[in-house]
Amino acid sequence: MDKTIMYIDADAFFASVEQASRPNLLGKPVAVAGRNKRTVVVASSYEAKRLGIKTGMTKGGAKRTLPSLIIVEGNNEKYVDTCVRINEILLKYTPEVEIYSIDESFMDITGSFPFFPSPAGIAHAIKKEIKDTFGITCSIGIGPNRLIAKIAGESGKPDGLVMVKKEETRGFMKELPVGAIPGIGKRMGVALKDLGVITCGELLDFPVSVLRRRFGIWGDYVSLMAQGIEPLGDKRSGRPSTSIGHSMTFEEDIGDRATIKSHILELSEMVGRRLRKEGMTARGFSLTWRYPDFTTYTKRCSIPFHTQDGKMIYQVTGTLMDSIRLKDRIRLLGVTAFNLQKSMAISPLIEKSDKGERLYKVMDTINDIFGEHSIHRATLLLCRKHHWVISPAYRPYKSYPFRR
Ligand SMILES: [Mg+2]
Repeated sequence: MDKTIMYIDADAFFASVEQASRPNLLGKPVAVAGRNKRTVVVASSYEAKRLGIKTGMTKGGAKRTLPSLIIVEGNNEKYVDTCVRINEILLKYTPEVEIYSIDESFMDITGSFPFFPSPAGIAHAIKKEIKDTFGITCSIGIGPNRLIAKIAGESGKPDGLVMVKKEETRGFMKELPVGAIPGIGKRMGVALKDLGVITCGELLDFPVSVLRRRFGIWGDYVSLMAQGIEPLGDKRSGRPSTSIGHSMTFEEDIGDRATIKSHILELSEMVGRRLRKEGMTARGFSLTWRYPDFTTYTKRCSIPFHTQDGKMIYQVTGTLMDSIRLKDRIRLLGVTAFNLQKSMAISPLIEKSDKGERLYKVMDTINDIFGEHSIHRATLLLCRKHHWVISPAYRPYKSYPFRR
């Protein structure tokens, strides 16, 4: 039997969860954002989307675009909890469920058919149970691989169900705009348009040598994807990830160096945690800072070895800050790790001797179980507690084996 992959994407997830739990929000334009007045919209209901609200708008900008917009503060625990419970529903149909982001999962249902009627039957049952349990709709795509399943799911939003069989792949892809391919953003879309390429059909007929010259290895990848083939590489987009970073915008501009550095420590710890979660190490780090007038600077530094240790990262980024003469207060800070490589399995012998590493293992486990920031360095108590909403790309700790 052909491989059958199902992609499930909860529609307007954060906003739908809010609407489902507060019936007075049903049918209304709702946007979810952080508490900080300078954070941006991270999700919006379909009612809001239709009226021009987009992810990434500032709260003020969104309100100006749509004065009737209701902005609610995000509730991370609620989203993570719903995500985990949705995935528990999916696990009834196959043990091979992969959480792709907080509102998207893949399931390999190839082996499920002796027990369940058909892919469409499973999809309908899942949609119904999610709707009955959480009051939210989801879109489902079914295809011979994750790429096709995802593109199919996206094409049927909201509340859709689109199935593409292996032999239908080419025909299905042909008419789609290149932007339907995950990883092809606005900029690449424009670059391809300049080459006369608008649809996936045109992309797959385009000489790969030209694409490679223009886009490097990514040119090869998009050519494969236009044919419906899932290339190797980063699980998320096909593009190997080249950096991992976090940034924060402050409610009020900060000028005090000790406060700035405690935020740099916090960001460095967050980057270290992401590296460990993704099984990566890095040896290049950069510090980004933005002044109130939005001028933004980045300073970078490489070290001779790879690390995934937040404290080590802070030694680099904190030193970078020490070397900077600030000309004003700061509105935003960011820490990014680059020059990534897969982390090697560490032998238990070395592990035992490395106190720092053991400490991180324990901290990671505690934060996995009890939620982010359940435990962190005492130094971080200096930071004023800030309220943030998780990015929709956030993956909760619970992940299940998924063979490709
Ligand atoms: Mg979604």
